[in-house]
Amino acid sequence: MNDLNELLEIGFKFHGHRCPAMPLGLRAGLAAMRALGVKRSQAHELHLISETGKAHAGGCFLDGLMTATGCTYGKSNIEKTYYNKFAFTLIDTENKKSVRVHLKPDFAETMLQSPFVKLRRQGKKPQEVPPDVLAPLLDNVLNMPENNFLEIGPVVDYDFKKKPSVFDAAPCDNCGETTFVDKLTSKDGKLLCPSCL
Ligand SMILES: [Zn+2]
Ligand SMILES: [Zn+2]
Repeated sequence: MNDLNELLEIGFKFHGHRCPAMPLGLRAGLAAMRALGVKRSQAHELHLISETGKAHAGGCFLDGLMTATGCTYGKSNIEKTYYNKFAFTLIDTENKKSVRVHLKPDFAETMLQSPFVKLRRQGKKPQEVPPDVLAPLLDNVLNMPENNFLEIGPVVDYDFKKKPSVFDAAPCDNCGETTFVDKLTSKDGKLLCPSCL
């Protein structure tokens, strides 16, 4: 599933609104995958370390990265550093290689002055931005040459340590809720989940 148009609709549905930054993440994610020569992660073949944070325009970008790469919070093959940057490292966990990608500063600066962001600064919700404001920006994000906005680093070795999956769970002796055994702690002869500990 590397087709940008197919990913675009899936991404917008998942993301919740149409905006320029989610597709930017799609393109950045696809570029990183191409640099590594990998396909979308079905299980834990890829791992993403995103340098985005929260409560800033980078959130949309990360939803694009997740959609493109298949690195998701459910599968836990993703983490955030909260550096509040438009940057990420994609790791090929099978071949132990990685690539770091970031937005070119002059592009990021222009983007944060776009009519879309101007309306957002004024308090408009992203879904309230008129389609005629969004259309040219979206068109640009989808069609501009990669070199205009992406800085793709070299592919380098990355010593990724895979954690084995845990398949065994047991009820907590206090609340009775099923908890995976690696989070059950023995205390005074009882096995307790983190909330009851
Ligand atoms: Zn968005
Ligand atoms: Zn409990």
